[in-house]
Amino acid sequence: MEQCDIAIIGGGMVGALAAALLAPTGLQIRLVEAKAPTPFAPEQAPDLRVSSLSATSVRLLQQANAWASIMAMRAWPYQRLEAYEWQGFNTTFNAEDIDCAFLGYMVENRLVQLGLWHALAEWQNVHIDCPNGLTDLKQTDQGATLTLNNGQVLQAKLVLACDGAESHTRSFTDIGMTAWDYAQSCMLISMQGDALEPDTTWQQFTPSGPRAFLPLGLTTGSLVWYDQKHRIKALAELDNEALAEQVRLHFPDRMGHFKVLDKGQFALRRRHANQYVQGCVVLLGDAAHTINPLAGQGVNLGFKDAQALSDIIHHAVEGGLDFTDAKGLQRYQQQRRGDNLLMQGAMDVCYHTFSNDLLPLKILRNLGLSVAERSGPLKNKVMKYAMGL
Ligand SMILES: Cc1cc2nc3c(=O)[nH]c(=O)nc-3n(C[C@H](O)[C@H](O)[C@H](O)COP(=O)(O)OP(=O)(O)OC[C@H]3O[C@@H](n4cnc5c(N)ncnc54)[C@H](O)[C@@H]3O)c2cc1C
Repeated sequence: MEQCDIAIIGGGMVGALAAALLAPTGLQIRLVEAKAPTPFAPEQAPDLRVSSLSATSVRLLQQANAWASIMAMRAWPYQRLEAYEWQGFNTTFNAEDIDCAFLGYMVENRLVQLGLWHALAEWQNVHIDCPNGLTDLKQTDQGATLTLNNGQVLQAKLVLACDGAESHTRSFTDIGMTAWDYAQSCMLISMQGDALEPDTTWQQFTPSGPRAFLPLGLTTGSLVWYDQKHRIKALAELDNEALAEQVRLHFPDRMGHFKVLDKGQFALRRRHANQYVQGCVVLLGDAAHTINPLAGQGVNLGFKDAQALSDIIHHAVEGGLDFTDAKGLQRYQQQRRGDNLLMQGAMDVCYHTFSNDLLPLKILRNLGLSVAERSGPLKNKVMKYAMGL
């Protein structure tokens, strides 16, 4: 039977960041991932799955020594964020108003993962086990015994569940989930155009759901179309040209001539684990919580989970204490559960406020956006909170 101090199940963005932040402790870490990310080549079209990373997430990726290799592949900064329903009632956030060079970066998820794996290769105490997966987990007095897909048996003192929303690791605990489906689902569309706004991400709210643009370069971007499930399903059946025609009809007229490169549909589900810790199993990222992506906060919250847990384990190791101590793990849950719940709630208020067609409410919310635009210091505070500053 092989042994390690910490087994991390799932080497996506959150699991790989957790491994990179924990590596300097010197603990023996095993990162088990089911599927290796496809290597990067500059001629590749942008992936469908992209994330808007906050300034705090960028700082954590720098701390993990991954940011330089992500930048050497592809990452795109944006300086302006616009939210509106009716033209003329916009709220616009500008990086220069808070003396920052950028509000955030748009990065393909796979490139974040590749950058982190590149950084992990430098650590002798981190072993990436891929392709491999978890088939069984039994908690013992010393931690947990894990059985992997290839038949290998692994003994770990602590297990981090970073295997996403449908976490298999979580299913070996009694941790319950609070979850519901949103009425809307969404479509991600990667596109290429010659008159995009590369420094601006914008979102127009409509009663059937928001329409958003995320810049990925001078001539590439990603569109997000939220709508009723049956509508998204019908759009997913169109070919790229017919879909581009629908985008021209239903998105704001501010993208010039463009073509659709790829598309994919995603169900929207809010989930929250009732506990983040049970025995030696700890949940992080989407394994603990999923959020409506309309403000692009999901992985940023997962990164904050990784940071909080890593700080607690560093503190224990540096003080010669037991890093699996239940009190430390409970502190992680206390720090992160409230913050994640607050952000989930804020997204739901936004979702419900904008998802109806009642005229008085429409007027009120447009006035609200207009007042927010003129609120100066308050607007800057909101912007800094969203950036994690
Ligand atoms: C449409 C959409 C748009 C989004 N946009 C944004 C955005 O702009 N900004 C943002 O911050 N967030 C965004 N998110 C959320 C973000 O994508 C997730 O929060 C993030 O991917 C979670 O990362 P994770 O590492 O926790 O999980 P995942 O990304 O799901 O990674 C889990 C990993 O575990 C592996 N795995 C699964 N099961 C096993 C197993 N049994 N054994 C071993 N490995 C396993 C998987 O292969 C995968 O690599 C969006 C989400 C959606 C649906």
